[in-house]
Amino acid sequence: MYRTHTCGELNISKLNETVSLAGWVQRVRNLGGMTFIDLRDRYGITQLAFNEEWDHTLIEDARKLGREFVISITGKVIERSSKNANMSTGEIEIQVEKLEVLNAAKTPPFTIEDETDGGEELRMKYRYLDLRRNPVRENLLLRNRVNLEVRNYLSKLGFVDVETPFLIKSTPEGARDFVVPSRMNEGQFYALPQSPQTFKQLLMVGGIDKYFQIVKCFRDEDLRADRQPEFTQIDCEMSFVEREDILSTFEGLTKHLIKEITGNEVGDIPRMSYDEAMKKYGSDKPDIRFAMEFVELNETVKGQDFKVFDDAELVVGINGEGLAKYSRKQIDALINYVKRPQVGATGLVYCKYNEDGTLKSSVDKFYGPEQLEKWATAFGAKPGDLMLILAGPADKTRKALNDLRLHIAEEEGLRDPKVFAPLWVLDFPLLEWDEDTQRWYAMHHPFTAPYPKDLPLLETDPAAVRANAYDLVLNGNEIGGGSIRIHNKELQNKMFKFLGFSDEEAKAQFGFLMDAFEYGAPPHGGIAFGFDRLTAILGGKETIRDFIAFPKNNAGRDLMIDAPAALDQSQLAELSLDIRIAEKN
Ligand code: ASP
Repeated sequence: MYRTHTCGELNISKLNETVSLAGWVQRVRNLGGMTFIDLRDRYGITQLAFNEEWDHTLIEDARKLGREFVISITGKVIERSSKNANMSTGEIEIQVEKLEVLNAAKTPPFTIEDETDGGEELRMKYRYLDLRRNPVRENLLLRNRVNLEVRNYLSKLGFVDVETPFLIKSTPEGARDFVVPSRMNEGQFYALPQSPQTFKQLLMVGGIDKYFQIVKCFRDEDLRADRQPEFTQIDCEMSFVEREDILSTFEGLTKHLIKEITGNEVGDIPRMSYDEAMKKYGSDKPDIRFAMEFVELNETVKGQDFKVFDDAELVVGINGEGLAKYSRKQIDALINYVKRPQVGATGLVYCKYNEDGTLKSSVDKFYGPEQLEKWATAFGAKPGDLMLILAGPADKTRKALNDLRLHIAEEEGLRDPKVFAPLWVLDFPLLEWDEDTQRWYAMHHPFTAPYPKDLPLLETDPAAVRANAYDLVLNGNEIGGGSIRIHNKELQNKMFKFLGFSDEEAKAQFGFLMDAFEYGAPPHGGIAFGFDRLTAILGGKETIRDFIAFPKNNAGRDLMIDAPAALDQSQLAELSLDIRIAEKN
């Protein structure tokens, strides 16, 4: 037997017991005639004590141990002379009687401590060492807890976990597919699912009624900072439901998870239309942990010969409460921030509402005190506040102001990771016009049902057709999204046509679904949560990589196993493939 206990469980109640422990050497400290070793496993750290007077050879052996050696020991639990109140095992140590080296270890390339000296790439390459660090392990344990809570909650409601295939055909989530060549079908390829969307709909046609799956999805996208080419969804679908049924079911799940995982109680989840979100926050995933809502100022500011405002489609601002104290330097930093190409504003107008009640703006030449009073009223500003205003084309300006709002909130510590503010965003437009390809795209995916009463608009004003779709936003992140689906073949056909699919294309790609709709498809709808991001946010963090055991880097590489990689000639031959790398244009 390697161990009788783990390294995290012994305490003063076990005094004088003989125990065996196994684990990794975290640290060896030699102090005169004594040597102490911190022995670590998944559950904690226990101090091992060796004394020249107890056993001369044993202490010699202990002194030879290096970091991360795997050992097992047997010894007696004794009381420590200098106790450590921060550790659950801090009152005891083990007087070691027997030591066995189970495996030696090379010196690790970075320190296995909470604060490590290893950079991200190095830690990814040796991820199995990184996993030994507390913060990484705790993230995985948290992920496991969220997973279990989801399973239990949904199972109690009658949801059935059904696995769907990975070797499939293109699914329409709007990203590129990862493809897999088929050996048995020369020259043909499977696509990996961007989501199980079509299968979960077929499960509804199959009468499963309530489905869920915690499932890998694959999307070949350019990886912005915090995306992974393979990621996990909590994927769900329900039959005989209307939007309200879905919202209330998954509102329940969301509140349950926040409560169980973080201890926070959240009330009813507020709802906002897409239009309102864009108008008030310039984003379809507003962070509502703090206010700073947009105030539109066209009526208030135009007509004073200030060309920038007069010529702008939209003049819009936010009120930074208590920020009139900002120095010239801080304001310049904000101006530089909005002018960054990623933000894209041409300038920033500000107006300080000083504590003494006076108003001081950066455009005093055009706006006298009376005018500025009007601004303050529009903003609902009070002494001590700082009004910040952008002007320009409406969409671009809203986007820039959203960036500025989040930037200020970040700087001011308003994005507290321990506060949880979920929000439903509803009534998305069904369609999005793409300038480059000059065609309409489904904003969610082509199976999303339009609002029935908006249907006639499809011919006359497609941009105005609303989708029966919803997103769940948590702390400014989209953590879930779904829709009521089209369940009728004619409407689905019409939608495909509208989206530029020819009859043949629609049939080739989604014929199976259209066929299924002819055999009694129930009304249905669903939602999918981004499991990695949800877990990260519940863990109070932003990076999903930290919550994935073996993540990939921004170039889609697994640095540990060194994938992707070229194939052997023999493998290629089996697949009847001949590789020639075409030049990219
Ligand atoms: N399949 C969708 C997605 O991955 C979610 C859904 O509509 O249920 O975004």
